[in-house]
Amino acid sequence: MDISVVIPLYNEVESLPELTSWISKVMDENSFLYEIILIDDGSTDGSWEMINKLRLNNPFIKGVKFRRNYGKSAGLNVGFEAAQGNVVITMDADLQDSPDEIPELYRRVTEEKYDLISGWKAKRYDPLSKTIPTKLFNLATRKMSGINNLHDFNCGLKAYRKTVIKNIEIYGEMHRYIPVIAKWAGFTKIGEQVVEHRARKYGTTKFGMSRFINGFLDLLSIFFVGKFGKRPMHFFGAMGSLSFFAGLICAIWIISDKLYDIAHHIKYSREVTAQPLFYIALVAIIIGSQLFLTGFVAELVARSAPERNHYQIEDRI
Ligand code: UDP
Ligand code: MG
Repeated sequence: MDISVVIPLYNEVESLPELTSWISKVMDENSFLYEIILIDDGSTDGSWEMINKLRLNNPFIKGVKFRRNYGKSAGLNVGFEAAQGNVVITMDADLQDSPDEIPELYRRVTEEKYDLISGWKAKRYDPLSKTIPTKLFNLATRKMSGINNLHDFNCGLKAYRKTVIKNIEIYGEMHRYIPVIAKWAGFTKIGEQVVEHRARKYGTTKFGMSRFINGFLDLLSIFFVGKFGKRPMHFFGAMGSLSFFAGLICAIWIISDKLYDIAHHIKYSREVTAQPLFYIALVAIIIGSQLFLTGFVAELVARSAPERNHYQIEDRI
């Protein structure tokens, strides 16, 4: 099979007929072998009934229904597990992404050998309240991930080589950072393609302002888990030791200073507790040992985690 189109959807009943027939039209024109995997993320508007109905006339449609709403990342993850095509295209169900982009995306993954091509909605039809924070987020993500050639991490329209999606796992709201997760997994040939963005035709957006807070926290956890997930002690241990020894040096200095004063019978010697350094030393030592112990516990957890020996293996002979 050439292409799997993975579409997570939540209450998008009006868009589905137009979306699926448009995708099929593009696929037939290019004679691709394909499947459309629709993941109904707990819709309550009859989307699932619509998917069943559409399937009667279009055998390329496959569906998965969640019992409740789990979020876009969960939908994508399940779609990725089911996908069989050599190239996997993800898109939103709201007709904001155009299926006409699919052939070019497919070509770049197969001929130009990209691992991942992300769409870039260079011209957006979204309110300013969304485009400005989005710009900031993309900037932060670029800086933190080192993927400097992407403008739009969160674009729903993306194309992947099959191995990429079979080797990454997304949950929470991490769908915003799939390129970052892919890069951490060792898939580094990541490219971008300007795509047409259309105004939402039916229904309303499913994400509110919370997307920005959650998005930022997810970025931190991806970064942290990617870098230290398998060796937490290297983070906590280093920070902890640094803090502990800084505190210890301060404490030694304070004590020897005091002992010197006592030995030389200095009259106006400060009380140990009267100097700010004393408190700094105290806090540093306590925080240091806390961090160290946290690292130790995290290390024990990491060692007993089932995926502790899960590595990205590219090939075996
Ligand atoms: N979506 C989903 N589960 C959710 C929220 C959204 O599957 O809990 C789907 C939604 O139906 C759409 C896609 O994710 O196909 C993108 O959502 P939306 O268009 O609301 O996001 P926006 O374009 O505003 O970023
Ligand atoms: Mg949308």
